Amino acid sequence: MQRLDGRAANQIRPVSFELGIAPHANGSVLVSMGNTRVICGVMIDDGVPRWMKEQGVIGGWLTAEYSMLPYSTLTRKPRDISKGRLDGRSSEIQRLIGRSLRAVVDLEKLGARTMYVDCDVLQADGGTRTAAITGASLAVAIACRKLVDDKKLATLPIRSLVAAVSAGVLGGTPVLDLNYEEDKAVTVDFNLVATEEGEFVELQGSGEEATFSQEQLAEMLAIGRKGIAQLVEAQRAVLSQDALSALTPNSLQPKLG
Ligand code: UDP
Repeated sequence: MQRLDGRAANQIRPVSFELGIAPHANGSVLVSMGNTRVICGVMIDDGVPRWMKEQGVIGGWLTAEYSMLPYSTLTRKPRDISKGRLDGRSSEIQRLIGRSLRAVVDLEKLGARTMYVDCDVLQADGGTRTAAITGASLAVAIACRKLVDDKKLATLPIRSLVAAVSAGVLGGTPVLDLNYEEDKAVTVDFNLVATEEGEFVELQGSGEEATFSQEQLAEMLAIGRKGIAQLVEAQRAVLSQDALSALTPNSLQPKLG
């Protein structure tokens, strides 16, 4: 099986992170996975949603929004606001991003604050939801570090990093990290979200007018875990480059592989 861009079946696209691209945000990251690029910005406000107060839920909250910029796709994608309603796909994706991050953020430790995570796709070439999760995890870590630096919190309110990757079945072969061309061609669409300890947060898998076998599922899980381990390594490399290295509690060493 030959992939269009020459990658091996279990190979992710080149990944990179550019920090601080939105200076007013508490944490911001431009994540690139091949030609897919997503801006992830985090802002933290004091206070929590009303439902939390009413239900007496202690701690804070984290919520995410996802959208594709009009010029991120091959043909212009109008903003949701111009259509007057949120796209069903965006709504599904932003809920996935929120769940993925809430799995690793210690909301109780965050205190009565709300963390807003905004993911905007700058360039779409497949795997925008997974890239958004991987980039947002870093942006959240950076924003949390600021809370500690500003002495608003004594310790970091995050348990670990989280990353995500897509997989699929192309011509019968499980492959990792699909670009748009591949995404159109696969018979199975799979998205994996996992922490750096290798714990899964969410698995989404569906046959597209097709079915898949237990063996293909096992292979997608195996290559997916390997891909996520590499993404966590890249996240860690960024965090260890500067003062952010203090972010790494001993318990958060990469365990995937
Ligand atoms: N896409 C697009 N316009 C849309 C939705 C998707 O051009 O309105 C393209 C885009 O490249 C995206 C890919 O189709 O990355 C796959 O979309 P999917 O819904 O599977 O989500 P993703 O893989 O981006 O998480």
